[in-house]
Amino acid sequence: MHVYLDNNATTRPATEVVSCMQECLQRSWGNPSSVHRTGMDARRRVELARSSVAQLVGCETREVVFTSGGTEAVNLAIRGAFRRIHRAEPGRRLLASLATEHPAVSDSIRGISALGGESISLGMDEHGVVDLRSLEELLERRGEEVALCSVMWANNETGVIQPVEEIARRCHEHGVVFHTDAVQWVGREPTCLEDTAIDLLSCSAHKFHGPKGAGALVVRGGPGVEPTLLGGPQERERRGGTENVPAIAGFGVACDLARAWLAEDRRRERLELRDRFESRLLALHQGASINSAGAPRLWNTTSIAFPGLRAQMLLVILSEHGVSASGGAACASGSVEVSGVLRAMGIDEERAAGSLRLSFSRETTESELDEALRVIDSVLASSRGGA
Ligand code: PLP
Repeated sequence: MHVYLDNNATTRPATEVVSCMQECLQRSWGNPSSVHRTGMDARRRVELARSSVAQLVGCETREVVFTSGGTEAVNLAIRGAFRRIHRAEPGRRLLASLATEHPAVSDSIRGISALGGESISLGMDEHGVVDLRSLEELLERRGEEVALCSVMWANNETGVIQPVEEIARRCHEHGVVFHTDAVQWVGREPTCLEDTAIDLLSCSAHKFHGPKGAGALVVRGGPGVEPTLLGGPQERERRGGTENVPAIAGFGVACDLARAWLAEDRRRERLELRDRFESRLLALHQGASINSAGAPRLWNTTSIAFPGLRAQMLLVILSEHGVSASGGAACASGSVEVSGVLRAMGIDEERAAGSLRLSFSRETTESELDEALRVIDSVLASSRGGA
């Protein structure tokens, strides 16, 4: 039995997604910008998918800009919005975010220093949750210098959920544009942008059973975005380039499936499954602890620290025994590099180096988790024996 518990890295494309993409490749292969029938058929596929994305996140269809995934959506949000804001109001040059953001955000912000931007980190508690007082203080003191605030909706390593609706509301009170990297959130939790002050939202299809290479930036309020990919008027002049029709159509199907699943409201059941799994995991190793246990977290993510053990080594052995997971640290040229997320939260090197991330999908079953626990138990026992 193979147990895949790395769904924050990527998920298995749903059968319906694969069939739709295959059909598109074989039948709807036109260029959506062409005026003839073949082009119009491809255009219909793209617009159908746009409406599926809009329904999943609760926005208008014209607000959805298709991109090549989450990374491009985030780049477009940050670079594209900053250029507009800074040009209109040169005094606004600060980009506020968390130290636990995905590199798509932190590297985009770093890249903006060449355009006159300056990065500023918001405070957070020991679980990695934003400190709203630190945000309020920044907005009170330097609100007129802030161009953009970007806070992820849910963290990819710990699953920690940020109060982004509240952050967006406060940003708006100070005329600050707000972006959220919702790559780990959308498709797993209900989203209704219309009820929020969020201006920009990035999402990605492959985190909820869609294909890799498809994502969207939702552009709602604020001054909009300047395109970062030039070369055509596609996507209402917000993203040049011929649309990836099969991937976009597959993305649309993934959105429809996610919406149907969310309508069943099985999230409480899933949270209970995660909690049972976590308490059994904790019992397997003395001193084990769940990272960010005290914060609201996604139903699908468990980040557990096994102090004294090396996650990189555990992962290899787990994989040999049929369990796919990931670590809270990356191995770089023989030495273990502690994850930026766990370090930024102040987690010590020993706990971070022994941290595993186990992430479920809506398809993960209780018997798969039983099997994972059995394997983890035997791997931990032999690692302790060998240590
Ligand atoms: N943001 C977060 C929080 C992510 O977890 C990821 C992917 O892991 C991305 C952005 C990038 O998305 P993509 O893989 O679609 O480029």
